[in-house]
Amino acid sequence: METYDALLDSITPASGPTRTIKDPATGETVGQAPAHSVADLEAAISAAAAAQPAWAALSHEARTEMLLKAAEAIDRSAEELAILLSREQGKPLNGPNARFEVGACSAWLRAAATTVLEPETVADDGETFAQVHYRPIGVVGAIGPWNWPMMITIWQIAPALRMGNAVVVKPSEYTPLSVLALVHVLNQELPDGLLTAVCGDGEVGSRMVEHEAIGKIMFTGSTATGKAIIKSSADSIKRLTLELGGNDAGIVLPDADPKAIAEGLFWGAFINTGQTCAALKRLYVHEDIYDEVCEALTAVAEAMPMGVGLDEANVLGPLQNKAQFDIVARLVDAAKESGARVLIGGNPDADQVGYFYPTTLIADVDNKNPLVAEEQFGPALPIIRYSTVDEAIAMANDLEVGLGASVWSSDVDAARKVASRIEAGTVWINKHGAVDPRVPFGGIKQSGYGLEFGVEGLKGVAVPQVING
Ligand code: NDP
Repeated sequence: METYDALLDSITPASGPTRTIKDPATGETVGQAPAHSVADLEAAISAAAAAQPAWAALSHEARTEMLLKAAEAIDRSAEELAILLSREQGKPLNGPNARFEVGACSAWLRAAATTVLEPETVADDGETFAQVHYRPIGVVGAIGPWNWPMMITIWQIAPALRMGNAVVVKPSEYTPLSVLALVHVLNQELPDGLLTAVCGDGEVGSRMVEHEAIGKIMFTGSTATGKAIIKSSADSIKRLTLELGGNDAGIVLPDADPKAIAEGLFWGAFINTGQTCAALKRLYVHEDIYDEVCEALTAVAEAMPMGVGLDEANVLGPLQNKAQFDIVARLVDAAKESGARVLIGGNPDADQVGYFYPTTLIADVDNKNPLVAEEQFGPALPIIRYSTVDEAIAMANDLEVGLGASVWSSDVDAARKVASRIEAGTVWINKHGAVDPRVPFGGIKQSGYGLEFGVEGLKGVAVPQVING
């Protein structure tokens, strides 16, 4: 186990160009990240390609054992990793935030390490014997975002390593230190060269996508970048898993109990201060219980402290960066200008230090308003009134994205029927965003394609090979 300072030292470059990373809550310097070049990327890919055959040649059991040791290494450094994550990303240590994210990293790594993917026998009739085997791809590229930088990196790399691949990671320029620290800790247990983080800019990312020696890109980020990746991966016919975020709808049916669901609705929307791909971003509430739901949700929101992440009292933090703060401010202003009713928040302090946007609930907002139609990716939730379930489903399905959704009701069977009519990769009942390492997760429509987690997730980082005969 390293102290926090030793961990930071171990990822601070001794030479070469660097970028200063600031705490989004305080503006203080967190550390220096290397500004890697395309030459650094080439070196990482060469090392990965050299390390991968020996890793792939190990038995599944041997790889599982090493990955379980790597999960233990995360646990040993959990508090130091959580402090760095909190300082760089902004999310509080407490609540479903930094400690929770680091805990999820070792949990997901253990799950990927121990999930079994056997060859599938697809024909066995005495004449034909055919099996699908899942082989390593080779080198996988993992490109990640800044909202859950450690956890999403693990989601990408754990199944890839489990299946016998090497991985080169390209973190977001906003949160490179968290990913470098995670990779450093994992590498205490993994063979040299197998896993490397390259902290470059968009040029490094796009070169990675074009690179012939990389067989697959795991990407989580914006739809616009996802489209660029599809185009630039075309020449090498690269495999892609694209998790492109969404604008998740929640539908509250008229028989739901407002007080009983209020806390679940709150965290469904505001986990990580709303900076979550599969968070509740538009809430449709039946007119019969609209006022009660608004009231109950406002009471929960009022009780949730926001502030600097290292203060244990806080459960909500700042936006991670100025660009995201500006998006949230623009969209809330658009709703206010349209005459929508502010239940709480909507008034950031112009003189504050840090990118804090207050927890905001906006009622009586039109479904076409930009706050509803665009992904706000921050602590602002529009609440839309509806009269019939058909109307609510039509509004939920009206957008081009389809990552998650949720239905809230006292009658689970009725909720499941509504769920089957919603265009989203996952529809939760009486919860939102509850991901599970055993359960496949992925988007439809412009939220991307490919599944992560569980057996399906392992298949996504392998090449199928049929042996027939
Ligand atoms: P981006 O999609 O721009 O960035 C995600 C990652 O892709 C970063 O590592 C980025 O690197 C990299 N990247 C950028 N351009 C390319 C390229 N041409 N080829 C390969 N990789 C590239 O997301 P942003 O951080 O700009 O966030 C913008 C919006 O995306 C947010 O407002 C939010 O709506 C959404 N988002 C969704 C997330 C999700 O979980 N699905 C997470 C984060 C954001 P670099 O940092 O160097 O630019």
